[in-house]
Amino acid sequence: MNGHQPTTSNGTHHDDWNPSSWQSRPIKQPVSYDNQAAVDKSLAKLRHLPPIVTPTEIWKLRRSLEEVALGKAFLLQGGDCAELFDYCYDGAIDSKIKLLLQMSLVLIWGGNKPVVRLARMAGQYAKPRSSPMETYNGKQIPSFRGDILNAYDPENRDLDPDRLVQAYFHSAATLNYVRAQLSSGVADLHNPLDWGLGHVSDPELQTKYTTIVESIGESLRFMKTIGADTAGQLQTVDLYTSHEGLLLAYEESLTRKLRHPSNRNVPPTCKPAKAPKVSPLTGGAMIDKSIQEVETTGYYNTSAHFLWVGDRTRQPDHAHIEYFRGIENPIGIKVGPTTTVEDLSQLLDIVNPRKEVGKVTLITRYGEGKVEELLPQHIEAVSRTGHTVVWQCDPMHGNTRSTASGVKTRSFASIFSELSSALQIHKECGSFLGGVHLELTGDAVTECTGGSQGLQDEDLGSRYETFCDPRLNEKQALELAFLVAGSQRE
Ligand code: PEP
Ligand code: MN
Repeated sequence: MNGHQPTTSNGTHHDDWNPSSWQSRPIKQPVSYDNQAAVDKSLAKLRHLPPIVTPTEIWKLRRSLEEVALGKAFLLQGGDCAELFDYCYDGAIDSKIKLLLQMSLVLIWGGNKPVVRLARMAGQYAKPRSSPMETYNGKQIPSFRGDILNAYDPENRDLDPDRLVQAYFHSAATLNYVRAQLSSGVADLHNPLDWGLGHVSDPELQTKYTTIVESIGESLRFMKTIGADTAGQLQTVDLYTSHEGLLLAYEESLTRKLRHPSNRNVPPTCKPAKAPKVSPLTGGAMIDKSIQEVETTGYYNTSAHFLWVGDRTRQPDHAHIEYFRGIENPIGIKVGPTTTVEDLSQLLDIVNPRKEVGKVTLITRYGEGKVEELLPQHIEAVSRTGHTVVWQCDPMHGNTRSTASGVKTRSFASIFSELSSALQIHKECGSFLGGVHLELTGDAVTECTGGSQGLQDEDLGSRYETFCDPRLNEKQALELAFLVAGSQRE
């Protein structure tokens, strides 16, 4: 295990872990500012600011992900590739909430089980890049690394430490609006939803989608009639936040030692193994403060409910995995064509030594041409470890291509193909797909080709607005949900 000692014998106390222990490890995607005093000032401010999310919410999500890992619920995660500070306004947030809600209803219909909604939002501001520099107007400039680090403006790509604090406030304002809208009935299922299926020109698909929408509408009316929503369950839904935990200085500053909430049941293995110390003066048991703290508190990343490690930063002996192994939040790990089976088992043992069910979501992203070869090996390797994970398919990141004119895009058909293969392969291997991870937006952008609108490579210019990877637009995202729901019912 590369000399790791992730836990002590009681399994919870990370001897050599603390929120900054990642700093002594090698790191991918490093960040070097040229004004350390300004960085220190921003980090001090962040350490002082209140949590954005709480341990109670984090454990509620962990409980839901436990259900997903056991096959009793399905996980829907989606949002922008690179969230901009500019997306922090009501219209953009409303359309993403609405889209995730509609997709989740379709998936509930398809899988006949609850859906856990996780937005890539309110903090998805840091991007890993394949190259630190890019060419612009014939000169080399630093790549855009996400709003938390630098501006997209090619004339002004210097890293700006003030952006760390701006990220916090945009994240908090976004989540504040999400919470306010949810508690004001934006997700009230008594209100009719506009499904906008007019673009579907294929009559067969149009009938298929309309049937699903009518069936959902009927179920909701029925529940209302029989009073099945007396506890107000149809008035609001849970929506959690997530982002890639890439910029560790930011994540560290929002990592807090907090009291475990009452909805966290302490498993038996957490009880202190040592006998209480005896006081030399009184002969009575001394209170061992460290044991007490182990039992009642833990380190929580309070910047989001869920964080994931990207494909470029998941080396078992590097900084990101070191940071991730110490937090109580549920976490994701991207798994791609370069992930070895050895790395996979080692990673699970490092970040989840007690093998807690659903603590880790494995986000597979191979590409439509590679999923059939790689996924079965990974499923088998994980099953040998005895870990119960959430298997989530990200059909976006292995399917990026360039058009003849050099525009970065993804075909709807390839995305759906990887997703259907994943569903099928899991079934064949005696496993099951627990969720999907998508890059999407509620707006009518033209970034991915295909889908019922039939977008072609030449159409991409009309509303190509992404600042990083191409996203499914509202119609494509909803259509993908319809197709997944259809295959879940098969
Ligand atoms: C992403 O999710 O935007 C991303 C960069 O993915 P990956 O780490 O899988 O390449
Ligand atoms: Mn992306």
